[in-house]
Amino acid sequence: MSPRRRSNPNAERRLHRGPAPAWRGNRVFYVAVEGEATEPDYLAMLNREFGSDHQFLIHPLYKRNGMTPTRVVAKALEQRDEVASGDGRVQLWALFDRDQHHEIPQAMRAARAGGVRVAFSHPSFDLWLLLHFTDVSGQQDGSSRIVHQKLRQCTGFETFDLHNDKSVSGPRAQALHGRYLDAVRRAKRLVDDCPSGACSASDGHVQSCDALRRDPSTDVWQLLVELGIAGR
Ligand SMILES: [Zn+2]
Repeated sequence: MSPRRRSNPNAERRLHRGPAPAWRGNRVFYVAVEGEATEPDYLAMLNREFGSDHQFLIHPLYKRNGMTPTRVVAKALEQRDEVASGDGRVQLWALFDRDQHHEIPQAMRAARAGGVRVAFSHPSFDLWLLLHFTDVSGQQDGSSRIVHQKLRQCTGFETFDLHNDKSVSGPRAQALHGRYLDAVRRAKRLVDDCPSGACSASDGHVQSCDALRRDPSTDVWQLLVELGIAGR
């Protein structure tokens, strides 16, 4: 099976559907992600909902069965030549999670060295989904168990992560509609509440802030800001 095949074939087809916009002149975001379904679906949704208005195109980069954080960064770096020839309109991003990974600091360093923007989530990207519906507080200790429990109480997400289904399409995508800015606001508040005491939503996490201690937090909101969907 091709490594780009998806467990949910509709999600990938949808990415290429819709009007054929004049991509030339648009901003291009290569966004490498850890998961094989949730993040690619979410990014495809951003393309559909906001791509033409805000003149961007996201290329989700993912692999069947997912990638570790350092692999995610390496995947983004494969597109480095595009940045060099992109006339300032191409950005590389890496989205990865705390989970129980042991290579977060290495992945962060590789990203910084290679000019890859990182949107790190602690414990996982699924926290970002939950923030569309409600505030989240309290340490998660690298486990998404509580996040998933709460997410399954939200309309559209009742069966999320059950039967190995972590897609974000159909009713789930509809449930997120109109809630993006709420998620940004809540995620920013988590930066203001960062245990380091030195971080703020206006400036992000300071360099000295240990990513492993940003529990809970997610910086996916910064991608939405960069895309022009949310204000700074
Ligand atoms: Zn911080």
